[in-house]
Amino acid sequence: MSHIIHRSLKVTPPVAASAQGVWITDRSGKRYLDASGGAAVSCLGHGHPDVLAALHQQIDTLAYAHTGFFTSDAAEQLADQLVRTAPGDLNSVYFVSGGSEAVETALKLARQYCVETGQPEKTTFIGRRQSYHGNTLGALAVGGNEWRRKQFAPLLMDVARVSACNAYRDRLPDESEQQYTERLLNELEQTILDTGAEKIIGFVAETVSGATTGAVPPTRGYFAGVRKLCDKYGLLYIADEVMCGMGRTGTLHAFEQDDVVPDIVTVAKGLGGGYQPIGAVLVSDKVMEPLRNGSGMFQHGHTYICHPTAAAAALAVQQVIERDNLLSRVQHQGNYLLQQLHAELAGLDFVGDTRGRGLFAGVELVRDKTTKTAFDPAHKLHAAIKSACLEKGLMVYPMGGTIDGQQGDHILIAPPFIIEPSQLDFVVETLKQVIIRETA
Ligand code: PMP
Repeated sequence: MSHIIHRSLKVTPPVAASAQGVWITDRSGKRYLDASGGAAVSCLGHGHPDVLAALHQQIDTLAYAHTGFFTSDAAEQLADQLVRTAPGDLNSVYFVSGGSEAVETALKLARQYCVETGQPEKTTFIGRRQSYHGNTLGALAVGGNEWRRKQFAPLLMDVARVSACNAYRDRLPDESEQQYTERLLNELEQTILDTGAEKIIGFVAETVSGATTGAVPPTRGYFAGVRKLCDKYGLLYIADEVMCGMGRTGTLHAFEQDDVVPDIVTVAKGLGGGYQPIGAVLVSDKVMEPLRNGSGMFQHGHTYICHPTAAAAALAVQQVIERDNLLSRVQHQGNYLLQQLHAELAGLDFVGDTRGRGLFAGVELVRDKTTKTAFDPAHKLHAAIKSACLEKGLMVYPMGGTIDGQQGDHILIAPPFIIEPSQLDFVVETLKQVIIRETA
């Protein structure tokens, strides 16, 4: 019996004992292929010697120093690395301990920007339905998952919401991709007008939406249109790349493939690759300069911001990704994975869609492929698939369908960038067998 409060208050997960490369071993000696990178975290795999060496070196020299007193070489170098590799004027970085903290920080920076530029009446955001931005109250408020928000709704700020970009689900049969994209952008513009641009701080969106929808990439031109509307109406564009960022989709930032530069970007999971808890907010000069030239203070902070050990681990992770040219590997292996998922799974009776970008792939399961009707949530298909995969030594990241049936159960695949093609074959084959068995 574990005394730890886990998400399930009834079932205790197995105890992980060690991990190396793409494999995790539990206390009984059973091995699991980590095809989800935990929750799209493990980008380099486990136990990478260069990261371990950097971690040991940092702990031996300076494990912790509070930012109220000091900065550190590790954090300074990591900030330099992130700014050097970011496009546009994303020239400032705020380090936190994870994704939700990064999103909270982004929301507060954006609000303070409005206050310091003489727009204090701007007090709300536009988020998207079918989105996830974290579990703290601000992040939960901008997120679109009704089920997660429901019992906490009275505690959350009011946020306007538009449709997420999900062509498989929402594009009408006689609509081209371009027409669908235009319809979404019209909806966003109408929502800005209905809410009143003078009240809106910014628009928050995952570039490739992850945890709620299962790796759904945007349509071509969607984010370029978002950028234009944000500029037209004076809204900040905040890209949440906590899950899809830091190389996961084959470019360092997923938005690079959409030819846009947001005003604020959140990253986390792949930043530190799981070696230490860390997240970061990349901030444009446009947002930072009024704060620097204005009050000169950012009214925010946590005890562990800019943690030297976390920064050293993340720096080593990012240096290895760059040195070993792993982004091109992500593109190649990602193409192979998507192709194999399509070839092996798309023809199955209950697989509605396979999609993704880079090594960030999703499989959506539906009861009826024509109507795209989801399985009854009570059926808990995603949970059954997770357990059956674990039994076969495979970790995939499952999520349930929505209560309104507008979205099916889905499986997220986000393996370490070092995964081999034969291991990807094992992932696809095992998933195929499990889906066939669990939907029989
Ligand atoms: N934003 C996105 C897009 C995420 O996927 C997540 C985590 N799944 C978060 C924010 C929250 O991150 P964390 O769990 O590290 O707080």
